[in-house]
Formats: sequence, C-alpha cells, structure tokens
Amino acid sequence: MYDTIIIGTGPAGFTAGIYAARREMKTLIIGKEMGGQLIWASEIENYPGFKSISSFDLINKMNEQVRALGVEIKSDEVKKIENKDNKFILHTNRDIYEARAVILAMGLSPRRLAIPGEEKLTGKGVSYCANCDGPFYKDKTAAVVGGGNSALDAAEILSKIAKKVYLIHRRDEFRGFEALVGEVKARKNIELVLNSEPREVIGENKLEKIKVFNNKTKEEKDLEIDGLFVEIGRIANTDLVADLAKRNERGEIIVDEKCMTSCPGMFAAGDVTPVEFKQITIACGQGAIAALAAYQYLRLKQGESGEVVDRSYMKK
Ligand SMILES: Cc1cc2nc3c(=O)[nH]c(=O)nc-3n(C[C@H](O)[C@H](O)[C@H](O)COP(=O)(O)OP(=O)(O)OC[C@H]3O[C@@H](n4cnc5c(N)ncnc54)[C@H](O)[C@@H]3O)c2cc1C
Repeated sequence: MYDTIIIGTGPAGFTAGIYAARREMKTLIIGKEMGGQLIWASEIENYPGFKSISSFDLINKMNEQVRALGVEIKSDEVKKIENKDNKFILHTNRDIYEARAVILAMGLSPRRLAIPGEEKLTGKGVSYCANCDGPFYKDKTAAVVGGGNSALDAAEILSKIAKKVYLIHRRDEFRGFEALVGEVKARKNIELVLNSEPREVIGENKLEKIKVFNNKTKEEKDLEIDGLFVEIGRIANTDLVADLAKRNERGEIIVDEKCMTSCPGMFAAGDVTPVEFKQITIACGQGAIAALAAYQYLRLKQGESGEVVDRSYMKK
C-alpha cells in the first residue's frame, strides 16, 4: 500500500514526487512516457536556474532527483482506478497497485483528426510534432493541418526543411499571432489550402497521399505528400477518471486551490487541470501543491495536525 501514487512522468508528476518523498510518503510514480510533453520540446529557455537547457537534460535531471529521494518509478499505463474501502486501486497494463491518495498528472496528448488511415500511418508519415520529425522531410513535401499558432509554427519550421509545405485549414482565417501569420504567408514554399479538411490518409507502409475536402466548393482532391503534421490542439488525458472526478467541458479535471478534485483523496496537477497557462513551471508548482495537500489530507484523516513542514532537513 502506497501513501500516494502519482500518475504521469511529466514535470507535474516529477515535482509531486519530490515533495511527497520529502514528507516521507511512500510514493510510486507510474508514467507512460518519461518526460511527458517535454519529449516534443527542444530547447527550454524559461525554466528558472537554466538560461537554456535541452528538454532531454531537464527530464533526466528531474528523473534523477526523484529517484535519489527513493521514489519508485514504473514505466506503465494506468488503465482503471477504483475508489473503494477507503483506498484507491490502480490497474495498469501489468499490475495492480493500492494507495491512500492519488495525484493525477496525466497532461495532454495531441488531438487526432480521427479519419481513416491516420492511426495506421502514424509514425509512417503521420506525425504530431514538427520539431521532432521535421528533419525527416528534407527536400520532401509535407502538409500541416490546423489554424492556430502551433500549426503556423509547424509550417514555418517545415518550410525551412521541406521542398514544399501545404498548410491546410478548415477556415479562411488563421487564429494565430498576426506576425506569425504574416511570416507564413510570405514563405514562397508554403501553399495555403483554406476552407479545407483532410478526409482520408492513404498509403500502404508509408504515407502516399491524403484526400482533402473543400467545405466551400464541396470538391475533394488528392494531395501527394510524404509527411502529414497534425496540429489541431491538445486534449486532456482524463477519460481514466470520468466516473470519479468532475471535469469541465474541455475534459480538464476541476480542482480547488489545493489541487483537490471532487473526489476526496484524489488530487490533480499540471496540464490536466483547467490552469490557464500550460507551462512547465506552472505544472511543477501545481505538482508541489498537490503533494503537500495529499500529505495534509492523509495526516488529517489519521487525526493528526494538518502541518506540512518539510522534515527532510532533520536527517542531515
Ligand atoms: C512542442 C512543445 C514545446 C513546449 N515548450 C515549452 C517551453 O519551452 N516552456 C514551457 O514552460 N512549456 C513548454 N511546453 C509545455 C509543457 O511541456 C507542459 O506545460 C508540461 O509538460 C506539462 O506538464 P505535465 O506534467 O502537466 O503534463 P505532461 O508533460 O503532458 O506529462 C503527462 C505524463 O502523463 C503520462 N500519462 C498520461 N496518461 C497516463 C496513464 N493513463 N498512465 C500513465 N501515464 C500516463 C504521459 O505519458 C506523460 O508522461 C511545450 C509543450 C510542447 C508540446
């Protein structure tokens, strides 16, 4: 039985792990991908203490710090959570774990197009990260789908690598920063495909073409491309707690100022919450709050005081 199990190995989960360990809570972190969304970022230039640090270095440093504090980390996926008999029972792909409190730090995942062929060709031409996969398309043809800053950014990045880039957007105006829209429109090798939506991704073992539907003319055409970059937003990974904790219309887990969810003993931190600015330091801050609040919750439950003093200095 763990005092707390943290779900997610991103900045929120790692920070919660540090704070939980320093309160001597028996802690386990379970995460699918080490580093969370940081694996898609490159250089981080807004994390205090480092003028610039590669996202991989930052992940490794967080991971090392948490392990050094004695926190167990398991690479696994939580599939189901039960809340019964005063405890939480977590079912993963491989095991079953029990905890007195749970911290949800499952972050965000890219929104999919949900069209035929997309899943089959993911990793074989279909990508959700221009920063990571862009270099594979040197002198090739790529397409980006989306109309916000991420899509504009992706098109801009790819235009410096690929021979040609289509930017496919379902409306005729972009939602991104004006300056970025201007830059994209000025690039000679970016072709705007407006009022259009991809309908099918086609290819056997690798992407060959996509079918694009024009919602004004109602015509469908094929675009022969080597890479398709989907940049239509991110969604909170919260289906897991649909029956346990209240969520908002975007699927984010509603929390109070102590990061407590509507389910007593269950806390949430980072990008899975409705926090307006989804950033590393903010996820870390919420991870710290969630762990301290979980500690306080467990103490109060045992009839002890709710103090949350950091006792780790006593060992030195
Ligand atoms: C391309 C890109 C660049 C960015 N650049 C910056 C930047 O420069 N500066 C900045 O401050 N922010 C940046 N961000 C935002 C930043 O990465 C996020 O705000 C931050 O990672 C959120 O941390 P998190 O721990 O809440 O969630 P995440 O980082 O999303 O981590 C969630 C973790 O939970 C795991 N998980 C999900 N479901 C389960 C499950 N059922 N079982 C087990 N594990 C699960 C995931 O695998 C992942 O490990 C960037 C984001 C992107 C996409």
